[in-house]
Amino acid sequence: MPLSYDNYEFESQKVLKVSGVLNEDVDLEPLKEPSIQLIDCEEVKQMFSVGIRKWVMTLKERSPDHPLKFLKCSVVFIEQLNLIEGFVETEAVVSFYAPYFCDKCDKVHEILLKPSEVEDAEAPEKNCPEHGSTMEFDDDEEEYFEFLQE
Ligand SMILES: [Zn+2]
Repeated sequence: MPLSYDNYEFESQKVLKVSGVLNEDVDLEPLKEPSIQLIDCEEVKQMFSVGIRKWVMTLKERSPDHPLKFLKCSVVFIEQLNLIEGFVETEAVVSFYAPYFCDKCDKVHEILLKPSEVEDAEAPEKNCPEHGSTMEFDDDEEEYFEFLQE
């Protein structure tokens, strides 16, 4: 599945939804469109190094007068953000998913967080969407929230 694009509106702003896989064949031209300022990354599922390099170059080509903001960043997206300089600026992240484990479901739920909910790399307490019981953060907090530390 290559990367695909969809548009929708959020609080009367145009949002570009990016879905699929970031690989060497990726077409990132839509990210250069100055009228687009919000990118929804919920469905970004996989990223490969050549695609990531293209992504970083594309963001660099945008004018600083039209910075992009990123909504609903997926777990893969945050992992790359923690690894790669220039992938996305920390302050550009509006919201992102984080993995939590529920004992009762015996599965991981991805919960949408805002950067302001995370203090000192500590995962905020979240309840299972199915059981209401407290879940445990399912990754290394220091590593996962590293992009939020200065
Ligand atoms: Zn549960």
